[in-house]
Amino acid sequence: MYETLKRLLHLGEVVAKPRRVDGCACCGRCCEAFGGHLHASARDLARWRREGREDLLSRVNRLGWIWVDPPSNRLLDPCPFLSREAAGRKVCSINATKPDMCRDYPTVAHGHRCLNGVFLKL
Ligand code: SF4
Ligand code: SF4
Repeated sequence: MYETLKRLLHLGEVVAKPRRVDGCACCGRCCEAFGGHLHASARDLARWRREGREDLLSRVNRLGWIWVDPPSNRLLDPCPFLSREAAGRKVCSINATKPDMCRDYPTVAHGHRCLNGVFLKL
């Protein structure tokens, strides 16, 4: 019965297809490439208000683009929150509350592939 269903729904191909699942290598390439072209979502803004993150809210321009330099209101490129750790690792210093765009990357629009590998979001 299950085999028939699988055949009818073509699940056999999907299940059998080999998939590569990697973890983030913390190379920072995606943040360096895209970190200057981000947009805050309504959820980001609500969360940052709830968390009292004036430091982040002050880096959002009136159209929702991030991250700006507060005194000049100019968009920063690269992202100011990418920090370098030992052994060449680059990490997000606001990881716990980073923007949805960063959290969702890589999306289906990227084929679930980041700049440095293949990721699966199930
Ligand atoms: S490019 Fe890929 S491996 Fe490198 S930091 Fe971004 S998600 Fe991680
Ligand atoms: S906010 Fe964090 S995850 Fe997003 S681009 Fe900057 S360093 Fe990368």
